[in-house]
Amino acid sequence: MSTTDQPTSSPLVTISTKPVPPQKRPEPPQYFAFHRVRKYVQLACVIVFFTLPLSNLVRFDIPHQRFYFMGRELWISEFGILFLAMMFLLFLLAAMAMVYGRIYCGYLCPQMIFSEASDSTEKQIRRLVNKYVNWEAKKRNLLSRGIFIMLLTAASVALAFVFISYFVDPRDLFHRLMSFDIRTAAGIAGATTTIITFLDFAFLRQRFCTTVCPYGYLQGILGDGNTLLVHYRDPQHECIECKKCVRVCEMGIDIRNSPYQIECIHCADCIDACNDVLGRLGKKGLIHYSWGEQELPENFRESWFRRIGLRDGKRVAVLLIMLVYAVGLYVAVSMRRAVLVRISPDRATMYQLAKDGAITNKFRLQVSNRGHEQATVVLSVEDLPGATLADTEDAVVVNPGATVLREFEVMVPQAAVPKGVNHFQFATKVGEDKEKYPQTFITPE
Ligand code: SF4
Ligand code: SF4
Repeated sequence: MSTTDQPTSSPLVTISTKPVPPQKRPEPPQYFAFHRVRKYVQLACVIVFFTLPLSNLVRFDIPHQRFYFMGRELWISEFGILFLAMMFLLFLLAAMAMVYGRIYCGYLCPQMIFSEASDSTEKQIRRLVNKYVNWEAKKRNLLSRGIFIMLLTAASVALAFVFISYFVDPRDLFHRLMSFDIRTAAGIAGATTTIITFLDFAFLRQRFCTTVCPYGYLQGILGDGNTLLVHYRDPQHECIECKKCVRVCEMGIDIRNSPYQIECIHCADCIDACNDVLGRLGKKGLIHYSWGEQELPENFRESWFRRIGLRDGKRVAVLLIMLVYAVGLYVAVSMRRAVLVRISPDRATMYQLAKDGAITNKFRLQVSNRGHEQATVVLSVEDLPGATLADTEDAVVVNPGATVLREFEVMVPQAAVPKGVNHFQFATKVGEDKEKYPQTFITPE
């Protein structure tokens, strides 16, 4: 049989006409994204930063010497309340640095928020110009720089306006801005702050945090073995040297070198980066938030107070002191009266004898109306027989925001009181509020 008679054996090729199902994409790695949380927190902070002075929730009005706090108008002379507020803020910042390290810098600080915003805006403008403008590279660079400078100038004016509004009435400041006032103190402060803001976010940005700002140095003093850190651990030598953690770091450091670098603001971008890279390989990230160098925060068998950072007596003590100041502040603000009355004796002359034989003692009255409505103070004398007020009316009317000073005399017939020092009291009535002020009346021995 010739070879041609043999049946030809050819490989069977089957071509399926069924549609091939699309290959399933690998699931993206699941991990907690600190970056997204941080951006939401930062957005909330920007809203708070703009809202507080413009709504008088927190504002220190220097020209009028007033402190606005949660809808209340405090006078600069109300030292007790201001002292408690300052001490509370001081302990709050110290406690945050001690317990949570530089979390304030990474999540809450306006300098960091606007530095990051400047960075990302500049990169975004450059990307869009490179994509849509068909010029030579040098001209495209100039164009993107020009657009960025215009935007930054407008943003600097807005930021300086809000910042100065913490110290000057925003309506007054707005009129000054509209009339380009650079002659008055508020106008000069506004213009200077605008220039500083522009230079800061054009050139300095995060460098401010490691050179000028004292908070990082304070952190170095207050931090200890239980303070929250961003920590790299690789006991199994799993790092693939991709350096993504270094590339994403806005502060330009390599967290693998040490968790104690002063530049680190504990923002956790490197944690996200490493979780992302190693997650694709089915591994856990090598960078974590940890309490000191020992424990990772995922130790959920711990008690709740250790998990929120109250890990030793020092931290509990600081929290208690903060609470004391907070309660003191609350009590002081809630006990505060809108109308402040002060009565003091004028002892330049102990007493005077009138022609009709009556005895007079001089006093000073000071009434400050810290409220928003006109107030009337009714003054009377108690426990001093036959006493009358001379040189003043019984009722003193004080306009909102005003202070009235009066000198007056209390006159008593000589026979009505014993010789020497007589104790009595002034009684004041403001609306329904009654107050007593113990005083002495002196007669000749
Ligand atoms: S991102 Fe993670 S794996 Fe990559 S270099 Fe940094 S620590 Fe190593
Ligand atoms: S090292 Fe990590 S946590 Fe520290 S600043 Fe850089 S990215 Fe943020």
